[in-house]
Amino acid sequence: MTRAALLALLLLSSAQAAALIHLRPSLNAAGIITHGPRTLKTGQPKQVALTFDADMTPGMESELRSGKVRSFDNETVVQALEAANVPATFFLTGMWAQVYPASALALAKHPSFEIEDHSYDHPGFSQPCYGLASIADAQKSADIGRSQRAIQTATGTTPQYFRFPGGCASESDVQKVEAAGLTVVHWDVIGGDANQKSPAVIVSDVLSRVKSGSIVVLHVSGGHAPETGVALPAIIKGLRAEGYQLVTLKTLLGRP
Ligand SMILES: [Zn+2]
Repeated sequence: MTRAALLALLLLSSAQAAALIHLRPSLNAAGIITHGPRTLKTGQPKQVALTFDADMTPGMESELRSGKVRSFDNETVVQALEAANVPATFFLTGMWAQVYPASALALAKHPSFEIEDHSYDHPGFSQPCYGLASIADAQKSADIGRSQRAIQTATGTTPQYFRFPGGCASESDVQKVEAAGLTVVHWDVIGGDANQKSPAVIVSDVLSRVKSGSIVVLHVSGGHAPETGVALPAIIKGLRAEGYQLVTLKTLLGRP
C-alpha cells in the first residue's frame, strides 16, 4: 500500500472503513470464505444462502447395503425448497453423486440450484475431525480430483467451490484445493440438523444464528439428518418474515 493510500484509509471514519471491509465476503485466517457481505448497498435486501451437504462415506454405503439406513438422499429437502421457490446450493461428495446419480443430475439441472464439491468420500482433512476417517497428505489432491470427476460425470457440472468435511482443514489443505482451481467456502451458521430428531430445534438454531450475509449449512443426505426437510418450511418462512432474501452461494458472493 502506498503512503497516500494509507493516509486516505486513515482519514476514513471507522464506519466507512468497516463498510469497505464488509462489502466483501469474509475470509478467516486460513483463507476460507465463511459468509457473504454483511453490509448492504442502498436498497439491497439482506441475503442468506441455504446450503446442503450430501455426505457419503464407505461406512455409510455399507449401512445402505445392509439395510441399516434406508436412504442418504432426502427428497423432502428438495420438495420443501421447490414448494417455497427457494434457490439453494448443494455440496455433493463425489461418492454421493455415484450412489445417487439421478438425484445429483436432477439437482444440477434445476434452474434454482447450484452444485459444489464436498470431497470424494468425506474424510477429515485435518485431525481430529469429529470421528471422520483420516486421509494421508499424499492422497488429498487425488481425493479432490476424484470428487470433481465423479460430480462432473454424474451431473455434467464442474463445481467451483469446495467445502471440507466437518470444516477441518489446515492451510496447506486450503492451498491444495485452490491449486485444483476451487475456492473454499464453509459457513457461519450451523443448522444443527445432524443427528437432530426435533425439527423445532433445527428451526431455532438457524433463525437465532443467522445474520445478513450468512451461509447456513444443513444436510440433504437424510439418514443421519432426517428432519431437515420437515424443518425447512418454518426456516424459510421465518427468514422471509425477517426480511431475508434467499439466494444461491454465487449470488451471495457476487459471482453469479
Ligand atoms: Zn459433510
